[in-house]
Amino acid sequence: VKAGHSQDVWLEQDEKLIWHSMKPYNPEGTMVVTESQGSWITDQDGQKYLDGMAGLWCVNVGYGRQELAEAAYEQLKKMAYFPLTQSHQPAIELAEKLNQLLGDEYVIFFSNSGSEANETAFKIARQYHQQNGEHGRYKIFSRYRGYHGNSMGALAATGQAQRKFKYEPLAPGFHHIAPPDAYRDEVTGGNPRDLPGVKAIDQAMTWELSETVAALIMEPIITGGGILMPQDGYMKAAKEVCVKHGALLIVDEVICGFGRTGKAFGFMNYDVKPDIITMAKGITSAYLPLSATAVKREIYEAFKGSEEYDYFRHINTFGGNPAACALALKNIEIMENERLFERSKELGEKTLNSLKNHLQDHPYVGDVRGKGLLIGIEMVTHKDTKDPLELDKVNAVIGYCKQNGVIIGKNGATVAGFNNVLTISPPLNIEEEDLERLVSTVIKGIQHLK
Ligand code: PMP
Repeated sequence: VKAGHSQDVWLEQDEKLIWHSMKPYNPEGTMVVTESQGSWITDQDGQKYLDGMAGLWCVNVGYGRQELAEAAYEQLKKMAYFPLTQSHQPAIELAEKLNQLLGDEYVIFFSNSGSEANETAFKIARQYHQQNGEHGRYKIFSRYRGYHGNSMGALAATGQAQRKFKYEPLAPGFHHIAPPDAYRDEVTGGNPRDLPGVKAIDQAMTWELSETVAALIMEPIITGGGILMPQDGYMKAAKEVCVKHGALLIVDEVICGFGRTGKAFGFMNYDVKPDIITMAKGITSAYLPLSATAVKREIYEAFKGSEEYDYFRHINTFGGNPAACALALKNIEIMENERLFERSKELGEKTLNSLKNHLQDHPYVGDVRGKGLLIGIEMVTHKDTKDPLELDKVNAVIGYCKQNGVIIGKNGATVAGFNNVLTISPPLNIEEEDLERLVSTVIKGIQHLK
């Protein structure tokens, strides 16, 4: 096939040759996208769509930013590649910039994807305890419904059975606990220590034996699992439980980082200091692959043996690619110049209010929630039972939006197959009138449901 052929011709070849991830999740069929600009994508037939899902891929500064392309191009011409077994300026400058955003002193290990950043974090956590002479600490805890990646360790940490059961056994030593869910949990007392999600962590670490615990990993807001919001105080209390059991707290900022939730990083909404922070697509707004595992300096220091330098036995060929680092620096500069973190917060609040005003009385709308421009609408059969709405009805809303030129998605997976939380996450620099169009289309799509 050649440029100029219709989308159907391309799709015929696509069917033959490309193995897509998540094919069943595309109820509207595959799109062959040829151009993208700002918050808009264009398919092979010239049809334009407003991309309200770009945020799940973390295209935070929008599509088509020439500055980003140029930053990568200039770096490729000057020094295309060198591994980070040695060093180079773009990686050093980016590590400095990340520290500035994190507001504390972290040492950065670069990789290429969210999955790798998490694998790196697990290895660091396990070896860290050994460096301290605690050889029994290997267990990694995570929450059901969280997503942490596709590789055998990151998938083992993932709490979504439907993504895992065909590939088991995965990496051993991973344990799951109930996630916080401000919509469904009954809050039992005023003290965050009494929250069911916090007690679940404390009990699991106690029953598994503190001396065997290495780390807890969590997303600030569980995204793929259904935009699950923690209750006030959850994350801070979770960190206190980790300290009590000698576990490191790893925060997975792969989606929440870089402004999605209205702050530089999601954890900053919750008054907590993680030991390790993982980040990925948002660093480059997904223009090039790059990820990072940011580790508190004192953890890094523990890797220096007294007699011999006891190094971290982990390498990554492409991690910290110079062009990707140069692009990331430009990406962060754009976010700062355009105040995109603040914009995410302001527009997010406005959007949540508007959706609540229009939808809270709708019989199928159980909950409207989110932070910044990461917003979920949980669709249920009845407001009182909170049972997930049937998939064909959820898909009907997504289909209505697509027919009207707007792409939105769904997340959830309370049990295998359920994806009942409509998700809105546009670029953080979306034009206000485009955002209004996105929101009003979603509202109409829900109001059309029978
Ligand atoms: N963590 C979270 C929270 C994610 O949402 C994802 C993927 N969307 C990952 C990790 C894995 O990232 P990647 O697909 O880059 O490996």
